[in-house]
Amino acid sequence: MEVTARDGTLIVLDCGTGAHELGQHLAASREPPICGHLLITHTHWDYIQGFPFFTPLFVRGNEWDVYAPQGVGQRLEDTLAGQMEYSYFPVGLRQLGATIRYHELVEGAFDVGEVRVTARYMNHPGLAMGYRLEAGGVALVYATDHEPHSPHQPDAPRRAGAPALPVHREDREHIEFLAGADLVIHDAQYELREYPTKRTWGHSPAELAVDFALAAGAKRLALFHHDPFRDDAALDRLVESCRRRAVTGALDVFAAAEGQTIELAEREAVTPRAARQPEAAIAKGVGAASATILLVDDDPDIVRLLTMTLRPEGFRLLSASDGNAALEIARAERPDLLLLDWNMPGRNGL
Ligand SMILES: [Zn+2]
Ligand SMILES: [Zn+2]
Repeated sequence: MEVTARDGTLIVLDCGTGAHELGQHLAASREPPICGHLLITHTHWDYIQGFPFFTPLFVRGNEWDVYAPQGVGQRLEDTLAGQMEYSYFPVGLRQLGATIRYHELVEGAFDVGEVRVTARYMNHPGLAMGYRLEAGGVALVYATDHEPHSPHQPDAPRRAGAPALPVHREDREHIEFLAGADLVIHDAQYELREYPTKRTWGHSPAELAVDFALAAGAKRLALFHHDPFRDDAALDRLVESCRRRAVTGALDVFAAAEGQTIELAEREAVTPRAARQPEAAIAKGVGAASATILLVDDDPDIVRLLTMTLRPEGFRLLSASDGNAALEIARAERPDLLLLDWNMPGRNGL
């Protein structure tokens, strides 16, 4: 997906197979250099598969900033390079002509041109991020690969015609994330009746996407992440039933489609909601180099295992094999984190 702000800031949301056509379109419609920001929600293959086929990355003079949630144990650059190894692709990541900068994110807000970007974790296997983009009083929320946190919600009793009330604190925060958006692009892979067998797969029933958008007072909802088993006719039926569900509110529901263009009219400037979010969403690289962790366990294998796991993350590691030694080290070194065994000879962990 391409998002162009009023000041010309170019943002691309995810990099699936559609990135090939988008790259061609950008090359044909813009003056070089073509510079932009690629916001990746997560690195599941369907979201990065188009990366090696996105032509602006091949052109010297172009500059791209690539953002994705900070992973565990592997840098974003290495994750992207993996699918471009020689067995899979003839051009390696480091041979791409454009200047590419990588940014690993945690939750929070940052600015890209005039666009305020707020990142929030979605509920999806592995780490996935949703993005709220705000500029000129207009808000767009991209929330895909997400499912409700509350398993009870579909069965919750409802007043006639009223949207279901989400019960989970995280679901309430999700609604806050969507609040007042001019356009919400939301995961809607399943129908509610299919959902019980698909729970924990990380995708939403379309009906609940409607409920969330209604509760958030959003203006338009693009159903997204269509199930590949659904043909156009089935998708039309799903949109129809979602429109009936949305009829109580002023919510415009439609199915996201390839080639669609949506203009979001600028409104009088309001303080972006995201301004209240904490700054510095960009992580300082994998691990916090200066943090000290004290490992306490009488089983040397456990200490060795933890050391092997944590050492590559750049932590400073200390260890003790019993409670008394641990206390002494803790007093002297003031570690940032204790990983403490409970049952130990002499003084126990507690
Ligand atoms: Zn995924
Ligand atoms: Zn997906």
